Amino acid sequence: MDITYEPDVAPPPWRFVPRGFDAADPKAVETLGARLLDRPHRSVKDLEAWLLDIADLSRAVLAARGRRRIAMTRDTTDAFARDAHLAFERDLVPRWHLLLERFRRRYLDSPCRRELGPRYEMLDRHLAAAQEIFRKENVSLLADEERLSARYSQMVGRRTVSFRGAAMREQQCAALLEEPDRGAREDAYRALAAGRAADAQETEALFDELLALRHRIATNAGLPDYRAFRFRDLRRFDYGPAQCVAFHDAVERYAVPALTAHMEERRRSLGLDSLRPYDRFASPEGRALGRAFEDEGALVSLGQRLFRAVDAGFEEEFGILVRNGLLDLMARPGKAPGGYNAEVQDLRLPFIFANSVGRHADVKTLLHEGGHAFHTLATRDEPVPELSHAPMEFCEVASMTMELFGLEKFEQALPKDEARAAATQLLEHRLWLFVWVATIDAFQHWLYTHPGHARGERAEFWAGLRRRFEPFVDWTGLEEARAIDWHQQLHLFRYPFYYIEYGIAALGSLQIWQRYRRDPAAAVAGYRASLALGGRRPLPELFATAGARFAMDGPAVRDAVEGIVARLRELA
Ligand SMILES: [Zn+2]
Repeated sequence: MDITYEPDVAPPPWRFVPRGFDAADPKAVETLGARLLDRPHRSVKDLEAWLLDIADLSRAVLAARGRRRIAMTRDTTDAFARDAHLAFERDLVPRWHLLLERFRRRYLDSPCRRELGPRYEMLDRHLAAAQEIFRKENVSLLADEERLSARYSQMVGRRTVSFRGAAMREQQCAALLEEPDRGAREDAYRALAAGRAADAQETEALFDELLALRHRIATNAGLPDYRAFRFRDLRRFDYGPAQCVAFHDAVERYAVPALTAHMEERRRSLGLDSLRPYDRFASPEGRALGRAFEDEGALVSLGQRLFRAVDAGFEEEFGILVRNGLLDLMARPGKAPGGYNAEVQDLRLPFIFANSVGRHADVKTLLHEGGHAFHTLATRDEPVPELSHAPMEFCEVASMTMELFGLEKFEQALPKDEARAAATQLLEHRLWLFVWVATIDAFQHWLYTHPGHARGERAEFWAGLRRRFEPFVDWTGLEEARAIDWHQQLHLFRYPFYYIEYGIAALGSLQIWQRYRRDPAAAVAGYRASLALGGRRPLPELFATAGARFAMDGPAVRDAVEGIVARLRELA
């Protein structure tokens, strides 16, 4: 089950890290780190060689970390894998971060820094921004934050809910919200709500602690609030809070009415008197969607057919993953939930993890993670991690665009009815995405610019957002469940402010998709060219190379929504 160390496409050779180096040994890492810190840079050539050697060491450390994370998620019951992961995070990661800070300071003080030229422009910006908010006194607070927010995952992980007398995992129960039988959906919804309610006090207390801690981290860094800190921390160079607020307004103005109309049609076609929270993901299409595949082999060949239909090159690249054991797609007991694409840094190859059970949504996930994997492959030659990894806003363009390219080819891989239903579902979920991203993001802007607020005020603000962005949902009698339904959003606890990225990426990917419908060859070429830039250019340029405008304003949201609505009409 282990990932190979010898793929049939050789990774670039190591340049600094010696053979047999153990990146999990803090002493070994610190010894190499000290050697780098002692080395003088007399010329810009010295400095560049030094940066590439640091990149080499980073790659070794990231590879060790990544392989441990992957092993743990593939089998959460494997105590050896879990201990290896925890030990690495505890013993190595904090020391590594301190070492990186010392590298950064050396770099920023280097007289040769200005001569590096445009190739290193983005790295320079990245390192300067990191240093600007770095404070020694925050190192231990950030570790506290990690520990606290991990408690959220533990709490959710051990939670079981009771559905019609049967105990089940939250995820299993959530899948029942798509059931055609309304009674089953309602019971599932109430079971999930009861599960959250049982942990509500603990969750709110944990969240209060996180808010206070984050505020302290921000003020330590000399910033007025955590929003100001986190925007810098997430390297948001090309947009600020004002653009996010404009996005919330644009979603309210364009996406909410479109979704309201769509859901009103849905309500009528399902013959419901009102649309309740547990009716959101019920659809006539859902009923038409049978099983999409039986096992991993069938899913892989479905993926191959779709990627080939989009572009023969993608099928070839997907083949690298298939041949080298870089896929773990099917659900099985003991696997961590969710799906991801992770780069195996020593191989510079992607690895896709999923929990597929045979649903069409699993095909969509494979397209999504496939897009991330093509991004990893496209930047395989870039040795500096900061320059190979695109900003998150653009990483999700790579994945969401691949979903939309695939959508246009569903008919070549699926029976006609199913293809239509799956495409409808995907586009409908995109409308929901805009609404949910705006809700979560607007909530966070309020949370962190109102330090010291009371729990009651928080609940009230949240309820207002739910009414603003989902005015068509009838919550009568479920107000208490609504007041705490943000407790289900992991990002609020674990990755604060990291969410608007999905909205920005959706806007980019929908533009590329429109172009694809007019001129597929040009759209695929632009997509590939933009992926190959990795993190070497700023966001607006990455978008432009892909043939999209980097924007989150009214016209951008309006055009995206109009495109979805028009395509949904074609599919109806
Ligand atoms: Zn993704």
